[in-house]
Amino acid sequence: MRRRIVAGNWKMNGSKDLAKELVGYVRSETGSLDNGVEVVIIPPALYIGDVLSQARGDLAVGVQNIAQWESGAYTGEIAPAMAKDAGCRYVLVGHSERRQIFGETDEMVARKVSLAVASDLTAIVCVGESLEEREAGQAEAVVARQVRSGLISVTQYSEWQNVVVAYEPVWAIGTGKTATAEDAQTMHASIRSVLKDMGAPADEVSVLYGGSVKADNASALFAEPDIDGGLIGGASLIAEDFVSICRSLP
Ligand code: PEP
Repeated sequence: MRRRIVAGNWKMNGSKDLAKELVGYVRSETGSLDNGVEVVIIPPALYIGDVLSQARGDLAVGVQNIAQWESGAYTGEIAPAMAKDAGCRYVLVGHSERRQIFGETDEMVARKVSLAVASDLTAIVCVGESLEEREAGQAEAVVARQVRSGLISVTQYSEWQNVVVAYEPVWAIGTGKTATAEDAQTMHASIRSVLKDMGAPADEVSVLYGGSVKADNASALFAEPDIDGGLIGGASLIAEDFVSICRSLP
């Protein structure tokens, strides 16, 4: 069985107050859901402790980025093992903002995935094409390359248990434009076939959709057979909307 996940990426937003109000509300509203959703909150690293104390073990917590090294003289970086030690269960790797703004390459993504998995964190590995790549008919090839190179170090069955893929078309992130459920399903099926070709237990790897998922479009996306949940940016900061998205998983 694949994990069904709704993860909220706060990006560089939030505060101690938001951690208290939003996480407490999400915890109380999603606790009784019977759709098997695992709710993950991914705040800025400074608020992980605040979120953990509100989550009280009912919600999982993740970190938005980790270093590509285990430890040492890397001022400002967070080691994978530290994220685990602090109570995180998830880490985002290769978010398009990290790739575009901070120059994160496929090779860096691969190193981070390898370290995350070794630290028993579940890596949510983000992949997705730009608008130019989609218009040039290269979307599936670009995403396949990102999946193959980002996950190159993952070989063992136990390691695949700590990998989630998030398909996030770059043109849909924070833009209000969403892939149609049909286009997203086509890409998710393509990702699953790449995973199979890599020797992964492809039917057990969760593939999330991200990119302007809102309360009013989540149900259509989540109804597709290869979409196992969502990675939510903007809407994860609005408590009622985020809860409604969690409820949209069938
Ligand atoms: C994201 O940050 O991963 C994301 C999908 O953002 P948004 O939902 O705001 O498009």
